[in-house]
Formats: sequence, structure tokens, C-alpha cells
Amino acid sequence: MRILLPVIAALIATHVHAQELPVFDAHIHYSHDAVELVPPEEIAKLLRAAGVKKALVSSSDDNGTQRLLEAAPDIVVPALRPYRRRGEISTWMNDPTVIDYVEGLLAKHEYVALGEFHIYGEQVKTPVMQRMIALAKEYDLLLHAHSDAEAIDLIFESFPEARVLWAHSGFDRPDEVRDVLRRHKNLWSDLAFRSDQSSNGIVPPEWRAAFEEFPDRFMVGTDTFAPERWYYVGEHAAFSRKWLSTLPEELAENIAYRNAEKMLGLD
Ligand SMILES: [Zn+2]
Repeated sequence: MRILLPVIAALIATHVHAQELPVFDAHIHYSHDAVELVPPEEIAKLLRAAGVKKALVSSSDDNGTQRLLEAAPDIVVPALRPYRRRGEISTWMNDPTVIDYVEGLLAKHEYVALGEFHIYGEQVKTPVMQRMIALAKEYDLLLHAHSDAEAIDLIFESFPEARVLWAHSGFDRPDEVRDVLRRHKNLWSDLAFRSDQSSNGIVPPEWRAAFEEFPDRFMVGTDTFAPERWYYVGEHAAFSRKWLSTLPEELAENIAYRNAEKMLGLD
């Protein structure tokens, strides 16, 4: 009996591991209002309880990202959002003071990405957005863009070597997302805050075709854009594991964490 115990323990560990597919949550914000409500140590506990092994984190202002990085350096992969407060989503690209803010922080801290920011169509041509693209080039940063397909095309027109993570896959239909992915080899796509990739826990055919055509480009994300969204981090991980379990194992692992790791050179 004593000899069997380590075997049983190993079996249990394997079983737990198989059930708890690790998740790289590629769309997390910890902004000023969330920081006031939930301390970073509690947020770190929430992420660990959800089985989130890494998270691409940004915040308005950047303080939340830095505080959470301190609390969970093994999980947090920091991104720099060009917003100082909630409410700058539609004005930031016309506000040159954003550049001073972003440049000041880039000089002070390490980041892997700029974003998530909101930019649509011709707004990519504004001097502020063009400076963001130049900074991505200078600091070798991923651009996390909440955009329409036109803006994605214009970002790559400005900087063909850009690496872009398309937030929410533009909320476009899977066939439209595939078209855009075909055009740009350095484009990845997050599935944050959408649920159409799961129909009663099963991946519908149009999404399955997208994942099979681009097995190394999709990733999951909760999008904690408001403090109350933090309650969904665990739910989102469980929801993701459910629909991912209907895909072949390797594809499921890719979307759960490996694609995000590779995109960021963390693998
Ligand atoms: Zn977001």
C-alpha cells in the first residue's frame, strides 16, 4: 500500500493537470477604479484560482499594471495603455499629451506591448497613432488594437513589420477574420468578450474552420474593462476550457496559452 501511494499521487496530479488546462488570458485590464476596489494581492489570488498562468495586462492609468506586476510577477506580462483615465477611448488619438505620457513610461518601465487602444479606419493616420507605431518599432512592441479591419490594414501599411494583436478579433464574423489573417502574417487575434466561438459548449463549424486554418493565431481573453468584470475571470477560464475541450488537444493548448506565449517570445 505504501508503495502505491506515490503512484496514486502522480495519477491524481496528472488528472488535475489534464482538467485544468492552463490559460494565458491575453486581454486583462486593471484600471484605476478596479485598483480602488480590489487590491492587487486579491487580483493575483483570483488569477491563480482561475488557473491563469499568464496574463497580458494593461490599465488606465499604468499604476494598476505596475501594482499587479509586483503582486504576481510570474503571471503578469505588462502592456502600456495610452489612457490615463477611463473615458479617453475616443479622444486619445487627437491628444498629443498622450505621447508624453507613453514616452515617459516607456523610458521608466519594461513592456511587451502598446495597448489595448481603440483605433478605427483613417484614425490610424493621426500623428498620435503614427507616433505610437514608431514607438512600437523603436521598442519592439506588439500593438494590441481594438479596431476594424480597415485600421488593421492601415497599421500594416504604415509599418509592414508590425506585430499586431487584434482585440476581440474586431467583433467580426469568423470568415471576415480569416480574410484579415490571410492578409497579414504578423497578425494575431484575441477572442475576448465574445461568446460566438461556443454554441452550448461546442465550437461551431465556422469558428472551427478559422482555428484549423490558423492554429497558431488565436487566443483567449476575459477583458476586465470594468471592475465588476473581475468576477468573470474564473468563469471565463472555465467557459474557455469547455469549448476548447471539443477541439483536438494540440489546437486547444495552442489557443489556451501557447499562441500567446509564442507571439510574445515567452515560449
Ligand atoms: Zn479591452
